[in-house]
Amino acid sequence: MQHIDPSKNKTEKSKIPYYSIFGVIFLVFLFVFLWKPLNSARVAYIPLNKTMEKQGKEAKLPAVIGNASVEIIQDQPNLTDAESIDQPIPEDEVVKDELDEAFESKDSGPTYYTIAKGDTLTGILSQAGVNRNDVYQLTKQFKQLANLRVGQQISWVVDENKSLQVFNWYISARDTMVYQREGDAFAQYTEKREGNWQAFTISGQIDNNFIAEARNSGLTLNEILSITKILQWQLDFRRLKKGDRFTVSLLREMIGSRHSTSRILGVRIQNNRRDYYAILADDGNYYDVNGMGLARSFLRYPLAKQAKISSSFNPRRLHPVTGRIAPHNGVDFAVSRGTPVLATGDGEVVIAKSSGSAGNFITIRHGRQYTTRYMHLDKILVRQGQRVRKGDLIGLSGNTGRSTGPHLHYELRIDNKPVNPMTSSLPQAEGLTGKSKSAYLELVKGIKPILAFPSEIKAPIVNNQSNNTLSAD
Ligand SMILES: [Zn+2]
Repeated sequence: MQHIDPSKNKTEKSKIPYYSIFGVIFLVFLFVFLWKPLNSARVAYIPLNKTMEKQGKEAKLPAVIGNASVEIIQDQPNLTDAESIDQPIPEDEVVKDELDEAFESKDSGPTYYTIAKGDTLTGILSQAGVNRNDVYQLTKQFKQLANLRVGQQISWVVDENKSLQVFNWYISARDTMVYQREGDAFAQYTEKREGNWQAFTISGQIDNNFIAEARNSGLTLNEILSITKILQWQLDFRRLKKGDRFTVSLLREMIGSRHSTSRILGVRIQNNRRDYYAILADDGNYYDVNGMGLARSFLRYPLAKQAKISSSFNPRRLHPVTGRIAPHNGVDFAVSRGTPVLATGDGEVVIAKSSGSAGNFITIRHGRQYTTRYMHLDKILVRQGQRVRKGDLIGLSGNTGRSTGPHLHYELRIDNKPVNPMTSSLPQAEGLTGKSKSAYLELVKGIKPILAFPSEIKAPIVNNQSNNTLSAD
């Protein structure tokens, strides 16, 4: 036992007692037997066409990209140790711009939220930064708050210390359950809604920045936020400048003298003498004056070739070792090193760098609400600040960062909340056709004069437009 395999380069350690050599050999065997099978499962490929025939149920899922399509072959939550660590670290978060700051710093008006599948009230309010003791107090006091239904709207108001002041639960079109702070507890009462909607037209000319001017002209932060979302694909609101103009036509539901919810009927923004319109159609979506959709469409997959999913999106994944919840905020595609990675939508590269756990990674911001992230890349082919189009090659997949096998971790976030990129609804670019288009164009004819700027109208503009009789030009 004096001579050890020279290939292991350990001859100089020949004085080591023999039992520790057995220990080393034992560990090597463990490594080979346990680690390798796990890893080879992650990178296995299944030919695309065969799986499409075999799995009829999933054949509706593939997205066609160019002349290739992508197929989900296996979609099971893998509770492997490798997966639990491929998460971004806090420093990888997208830096907030001035619009984000403005909307987040608002401490007056209510924050609205529509209940989605899987939501819990504690989760929603905690994520929004509401004081935890208040959330605990509210949910402990009123057990019926566990009965929030998908699609229902809630709103809440916090003070500057994030302490909860009012919580509203919109039970029906008429009734709102209100939970009002009273000392350390909350009092509950029902508020009947009048359903008294009034029309307003609000115009302004930008002197410094859009938010400041929009607020000056009387729009609330929630209304401004809606406008920046509606036109997020047409305009970068940060780039609106002195002399640019806007007009907004909206309905406000009045309860007594104050208004609660608003509905934007039409927006016109003139940037650099170019007009951008968004008008609400009967289907609840906004279109331009020709009935074209305003959203930019997305690719479902960030890849041009087939790949299997080695780990699914899973917000409630349990860490295999600690047993704690360690959400998997994205989808892992088992792709070999060097596979082209594509931007899934038009946008701006806001992060392109190397980081500890995510390896080489890219974050793209699309409009105002959407971000996508691509991690563990072998190579980054874009730079921060670069504008990209849907389908652009942005990098090559790899195995960098805390990753134990080549794969692409892909995330989609809406309003900075991770969603399942394989199932979430993506913005549609479709326009109106047929009857709904002609009805819409009639609507446009009626609303365009309302959206005229004051200087374009001879008669003085009236602030309350409920009986507007201005004629089209
Ligand atoms: Zn992952």
